[in-house]
Amino acid sequence: MKLTILGCYAATPRTLTNPTSQVLEIKNRLFLIDCGEGTQVQLRKNKIKFSKINHIFISHLHGDHLYGLIGTISTFSLLGRTTDLYVYGPKGIKELILLQLKLTESWTTYDLFFHELESKESEIIFEDKHVIVKTIPLKHRVYTNGFLFQEKPAERKLNVGAVQDYDIHIAYYQKIKNGGDITLDNGTVIENDKLSFDPAPTMSYAFCSDTVYNEDIIPIIENADVLYHESTFLESEAALAQKTLHSTAKEAARIAVKANVKHLVLGHYSTRYDGLERFKEEAEEIFQNVLLGDDGVSFEF
Ligand SMILES: [Zn+2]
Ligand SMILES: [Zn+2]
Repeated sequence: MKLTILGCYAATPRTLTNPTSQVLEIKNRLFLIDCGEGTQVQLRKNKIKFSKINHIFISHLHGDHLYGLIGTISTFSLLGRTTDLYVYGPKGIKELILLQLKLTESWTTYDLFFHELESKESEIIFEDKHVIVKTIPLKHRVYTNGFLFQEKPAERKLNVGAVQDYDIHIAYYQKIKNGGDITLDNGTVIENDKLSFDPAPTMSYAFCSDTVYNEDIIPIIENADVLYHESTFLESEAALAQKTLHSTAKEAARIAVKANVKHLVLGHYSTRYDGLERFKEEAEEIFQNVLLGDDGVSFEF
């Protein structure tokens, strides 16, 4: 699983910082999460192929998470895209994009599907053979969802030596990979764990931005391998975080501890601060495994 941060700063784009957007590569799928201004340029800089993006998840309709979307959708057409594109985001996103296309007399060369969200409960919004995506309802000034990306458990691995020793026919291999026991011709039952190995452990990634400190998300993100949690402010601005429905680095760390995640990635930093080290220091007072998100940084898990 690979996470590439295209942008992770709050509010306005600046010379060297970009608003929120990131790409998650999981089981050979590329998911674009949020699409702030500058996302296309950042995709180019990070050598991510536009054509590999088929699903875009938008957390909420604030500009720093959204204003790159119409540009990205338009560019896909200029590039002659024909593959379907799926956009997941708050109710209203369809109207917003279609109005911009209409007034600019533009169209798409591909089919564009919107999956509008309005539930306040966590729900499955994407599922295929290998990956499942659920919403994480967040508390912010407008309707907002985080997203939990989970790999599905793979098949069990065949213990080739054992299968040959028992002289089991190839026709039963899939049953073994699915976890089934095998009955030999003489009536002996061979239990599955003697014929197969555990599959590789599955990975999960929870994206939570923007949100005030909210323990309601803990049951949804519990035991995630990686949690990206916004940390707009440092502790000195804790009151402002509360007021604007954002979080501090320490609060992000508190959620990481309570949800028992393995890694915490910080981001959505207010541009009022010089440097990011203090975000890490404050979070590390609470939680060990803190990674600083930054524009153009990739993490492999
Ligand atoms: Zn934001
Ligand atoms: Zn916001």
